Amino acid sequence: MKKAVVIGAGIAGLITARMLADYYEEVCVIERDEFPSEPNNRQGVPQSFHPHRVQPRGALIMEHYFPGCNDELIELGAISSHDEKLIVTNKYGTLVNKEDPSSFKIASSSRALLEWVLRKRIQNIPNISLLTSMEVTGLIVSEDQHAVTGIYTKERSGEKREDQLPADMVIDASGRSSKLIRWLDKLGLNVPEPEVLKVSLGYSTRYYKIKSSIPNEFVMSDSDPEQGIRAGIFMRIEDDIAGLILFNAGGDEYPSTQPEEFQEQLKHLFASDKIVKLMEQLEPLQGPRGYRISESIRQHFELMEDWPSGLLVLGDAFCNFDPIHGQGITVAAIEAETIGKSLEAQRLHPDPQFERNVLLRMQQAIDPAWWLSSVADLRWRGVEHGGPYELKGVDFAQKYINLFTKQAMKKATQEQDNHLFFMQFLMNALILPPSEYFKADVLNMILNDNGSEEEIELRAALSVQDPDLYQQKLNEIIPLFQLEYDEEIKKLLETLQPASFNG
Ligand SMILES: Cc1cc2nc3c(=O)[nH]c(=O)nc-3n(C[C@H](O)[C@H](O)[C@H](O)COP(=O)(O)OP(=O)(O)OC[C@H]3O[C@@H](n4cnc5c(N)ncnc54)[C@H](O)[C@@H]3O)c2cc1C
Repeated sequence: MKKAVVIGAGIAGLITARMLADYYEEVCVIERDEFPSEPNNRQGVPQSFHPHRVQPRGALIMEHYFPGCNDELIELGAISSHDEKLIVTNKYGTLVNKEDPSSFKIASSSRALLEWVLRKRIQNIPNISLLTSMEVTGLIVSEDQHAVTGIYTKERSGEKREDQLPADMVIDASGRSSKLIRWLDKLGLNVPEPEVLKVSLGYSTRYYKIKSSIPNEFVMSDSDPEQGIRAGIFMRIEDDIAGLILFNAGGDEYPSTQPEEFQEQLKHLFASDKIVKLMEQLEPLQGPRGYRISESIRQHFELMEDWPSGLLVLGDAFCNFDPIHGQGITVAAIEAETIGKSLEAQRLHPDPQFERNVLLRMQQAIDPAWWLSSVADLRWRGVEHGGPYELKGVDFAQKYINLFTKQAMKKATQEQDNHLFFMQFLMNALILPPSEYFKADVLNMILNDNGSEEEIELRAALSVQDPDLYQQKLNEIIPLFQLEYDEEIKKLLETLQPASFNG
């Protein structure tokens, strides 16, 4: 195969370009921004101000395509998860991990540093070229309109020249601001109505200078939408800088971007005494700066029978998520890997419906991430799911997760047994299929909370008393996720160990 074009040099675009380099003679990445000469935020990725944490599965895929990138990030100052104490706090208590939770190392850095490391690697791959300050403005199609054969471009500086670039494959990785729907409309194609999560979420991040002598801590303070308690995340990145994020959904009252109000709002998080004490040792550096998202959108391009050949899409342009769950990069990485596996299979058994089938496989990979983040966000008053597709099992799943979380905290703090906690972590990290979490023997185990409110609510939602019928009932309520789990994930599971926590 000859030439592939990737639209956008965000994280999805960079991973995709690297993957495509194994299959195409020439890969060209078109980016509307100029790249900074050192790790810095760019205008085209407004979210880059906010800290980005990559889930282990995403980090593993990046490590596969960019061997050694985690170590390189750490050499450049990113914080290794091996040197980090993990603190999880929610309405049921607080846990502090005693030792490294896994043998798999993840680097915590700014988004700018992560992009920098991946971009430098890409710039050294001979069959990849990066064209900057150039915007993609449309798709070129064959006469019968069945195939995309290239793109229209426009320079963003100088003479603002317009041009055309032929390609055998065009992959849109242009993120939330993607114009793909407009381009498909222009071709006269009917784009299915997307799923929309009207999430009205607010993010606010403040950065602090942190002395090297202060131990590295990653603090996850969960939200409690019922009581209107926000989530807070504290993480350290390179250059002795730490970021603190405040988050809530539902649009009621966004986290403040005023320094005094922001500091005041910290006092209402779970384990606020610990967080406030930590903050007292730090020197404010930048922010707080906000980020608002009214809707998360999941497209259903795979349903288009007239989807043109030579065109694919991934990352935020295909489906975007509430960022508090930290799934975006990992889903984009899984999608890039899915395209790679499909291209590999295509070499041996060419599939005339290649693009649509790839979109379908990517959609199956998106499924648990979309469902899990929607289940979590729909706990906030004012958040709604819309579009032609039903989101199954939300109310039941919320009650299940609630009791599970309570039991996980109890077991970890009272019995030093972290397996439930670890199971939840693996599912949220998109490693463990939800079917392994929502299953009869797990349900049996958690329905053992001395008739607590959470247990009563879950039993009522379950509506069967006989444990022999639990699995059948769960199969009816919880969506069936068709996931591909390969050797790499099994390997990852082996390297991850349950964290060891103190109450
Ligand atoms: C506040 C916030 C915090 C987040 N935190 C996390 C986190 O902790 N962990 C995580 O996994 N995910 C996080 N995400 C999500 C994450 O940013 C994205 O999911 C991830 O970067 C993949 O995005 P992408 O590459 O598809 O798009 P982007 O990263 O947005 O990149 C798109 C690129 O395309 C370029 N572009 C756009 N249009 C054109 C065009 N027409 N022509 C040429 N170039 C174009 C843009 O300039 C940009 O470089 C967060 C998101 C937000 C909003």
